[in-house]
Amino acid sequence: MSLVTEPKQGGCALPEITRERGQRQVFCGLAGIVWLHRKIQDAFFLVVGSRTCAHLLQSAAGVMIFAEPRFATAILQERDLAGLADCNQELDRVVADVLERRPDIKTLFLVGSCPSEVIKLDLGKAAERLSERYSDRVQVIDYSASGLETTFTQGEDACLGALVPRLPALPSIERSLLVLGTLPDVVEDQFRRLFEALEIGPVHFLPPRQASELPPVGPGTSVLLAQPFLGETARALHKRGAALLSAPYPFGVEGTLAWLKAAAAAWGVTPERVDEVAAPAVARARRGLEHYRELLAGKRIHFLPDSQLEIPLARFLQRELGMELVEVASPFIDRQLMEPELALLPEGVRVTEGQDLETQLDRVRAARPDLTVCGLGLANPLEAEGLRTKWSIELVFSPVHGFDQAADLAELFARPLTRGALLQV
Ligand code: SF4
Repeated sequence: MSLVTEPKQGGCALPEITRERGQRQVFCGLAGIVWLHRKIQDAFFLVVGSRTCAHLLQSAAGVMIFAEPRFATAILQERDLAGLADCNQELDRVVADVLERRPDIKTLFLVGSCPSEVIKLDLGKAAERLSERYSDRVQVIDYSASGLETTFTQGEDACLGALVPRLPALPSIERSLLVLGTLPDVVEDQFRRLFEALEIGPVHFLPPRQASELPPVGPGTSVLLAQPFLGETARALHKRGAALLSAPYPFGVEGTLAWLKAAAAAWGVTPERVDEVAAPAVARARRGLEHYRELLAGKRIHFLPDSQLEIPLARFLQRELGMELVEVASPFIDRQLMEPELALLPEGVRVTEGQDLETQLDRVRAARPDLTVCGLGLANPLEAEGLRTKWSIELVFSPVHGFDQAADLAELFARPLTRGALLQV
């Protein structure tokens, strides 16, 4: 059974992928709570974890909270580890406390962590028990964001995957477009207007702004991924009958146009009509990119594996801004979801799947690229060696999809180089 139902883009030979395994350095899936809680406005994320989990979440979200946060950590204490019965009672007490204080919460996510998995605390059962107890006002859903063998963007995949069984059924005679992946509201609104102008619809987004208003899914659903790291959710939607549209991801002008054209093809709208409707936004985006092309063309960039956005971003930087790709490494490469992007990479580029930290750092030191995209933990040591870096997590926190954000996306890569040049003056 094939997940991809639309014709492949391009048709070029795909680059060879080198697999590496070894020491890893990535954030865990708890980081996803930072952007998920901002998007889903009636949800609360309760991490069942340790003080380490609480610290990670606070430091990842610390600079981004403008209102009372809708996340917290129920910290497992030593006596919880001694007896699971007590642990469940304690969890029920914490949940009661949260729900009493926050009557606006309609969905409570119980988020598993390394400690809760190690002691085998069954959050699925806890979610069932609490769902029954609060059935009149709150749905309780569990997922795991543990850092064992995962990377930080998989937290969103696990969260959205947990929502799929709860999506209402789309009536069999209806069809709809489901855009998959967290988008800031402003970007969602831009895409909604473009789809409306193209007469594509109805359009739904997963995650929605309100978890109490989940989008429908069924055999009439076409899924268009806005983020490349949502393979498990895409497969769960496919099991519910949805068809997946194959397209590059909506980063930069080229990616966004191709992405819209994949949806247009499914609705019988011509590529020429997409070009016509998108023309003003495309012109604006191209004008915005001109300045950054001057700064970035010819500069050498190395992606270390972290966010799973590496391949689409490398494609954008090479094809629209003239950057030279030294290496593009990603923690996992889902061939089906990444094929249209791989086909757009230049011939001969080194593409790596997985992490072997020391070997990869040796290659960065040998190549001395102008810019290295990496996780937070690696940025400071590389900067100390005189290498310019970009934090990959910032690329997930920032609005970077679509035409109107193309220049902002380019700016994120230009900024460290401009700052580096100033420091050298
Ligand atoms: S979930 Fe695991 S990796 Fe993430 S902060 Fe907690 S203990 Fe650390």
